[in-house]
Amino acid sequence: MNWDDTAPPADDTEGGRLVAAAADGDDQAVEAALRPKSLAEFVGQERVREQLDLVLKAARQRGATADHVLLSGAPGLGKTTLSMIIAAEMEAPIRITSGPAIQHAGDLAAILSSLQEGEVLFLDEIHRMSRPAEEMLYMAMEDFRVDVIVGKGPGATAIPLELPPFTLVGATTRAGLLPPPLRDRFGFTAHMEFYEPAELERVIHRSAELLDVTIDTDGAAEIAGRSRGTPRIANRLLRRVRDYAQVKADGFITQEIAAAALRVYEVDARGLDRLDRAVLEALLKLFAGGPVGLSTLAVAVGEERETVEEVAEPFLVREGLLARTPRGRVATPAAWAHLGLVPPQTQGSGTAGQQGLFRA
Ligand code: ADP
Repeated sequence: MNWDDTAPPADDTEGGRLVAAAADGDDQAVEAALRPKSLAEFVGQERVREQLDLVLKAARQRGATADHVLLSGAPGLGKTTLSMIIAAEMEAPIRITSGPAIQHAGDLAAILSSLQEGEVLFLDEIHRMSRPAEEMLYMAMEDFRVDVIVGKGPGATAIPLELPPFTLVGATTRAGLLPPPLRDRFGFTAHMEFYEPAELERVIHRSAELLDVTIDTDGAAEIAGRSRGTPRIANRLLRRVRDYAQVKADGFITQEIAAAALRVYEVDARGLDRLDRAVLEALLKLFAGGPVGLSTLAVAVGEERETVEEVAEPFLVREGLLARTPRGRVATPAAWAHLGLVPPQTQGSGTAGQQGLFRA
């Protein structure tokens, strides 16, 4: 495997949050050990696995290079892992790079021209590639050829360069941002969904075994429920709970130990952390559940507007705890229930609601 070390570090807006979906330095060190190595080992995503299995088997039977594959989905759901599995199943080498690392068409030409026949090129965050590089990629994907421009101005000439057949695996968190001509050049597109708790439990048991950690079924369920549907977060929480179990108990992870450890790390039963709860609490306690404007809410929490909007809100919206409306942010009934608070209109006897119900 060949990592392109010109890739910039992962986006750090989440500043070391335990429930961040993007990888931090600590994750990168251990993730290599935890990645499933084959489709059979890859947990969940049944439909994607089945379809990909067919695509790869068919290519192998034909003795051909696999079609280009586009993987879309949130960070931490297994896109990098799947790209490595594709290479392993095709018994091909893999080169890993990312859109932001390819700012000039020349950067891409250099990578493409050094690929071996059948090699898998994993291009993470493909939606962040520069426009000229993207246009070069169209031709490379379709005809296994690029035009390298030599010289400048009127004297510039395009020298065609033949490429060996390769498989591009593109990954994006935002499939909608990809220009249609690029999307159309992928033979197979898979959308990765968030994982069900039972699937995350399987991820946790598997990782616990690899890390030589003992955990019971309820302990794994407790961590799974707080992992926001994301294997990367499940693995990270498992490592923190392991520390707690080792220092405070005999190393064995039970439901009680997992819950106590995650209380210390301020990850609640639904996977909300301190920031998420601060946003919800401000919305409920200071603004009676809204609607309130984003800027006002951010000031109340003492955070930047972008932090509230990009870091806390997506998960709160996904969980059905907060709604973005044209008039501002609004808490849902589930938010009141989650924080154990009572919405103002139903406080007291609740007769107003009942009168409303029986008026007819
Ligand atoms: P992405 O590229 O989508 O951000 P990764 O492939 O880097 O996600 O996965 C993050 C971590 O989660 C890896 O350590 C990997 O071991 C684990 N993981 C992801 N998907 C699965 C899965 N389906 N089964 C087991 N572990 C998984």
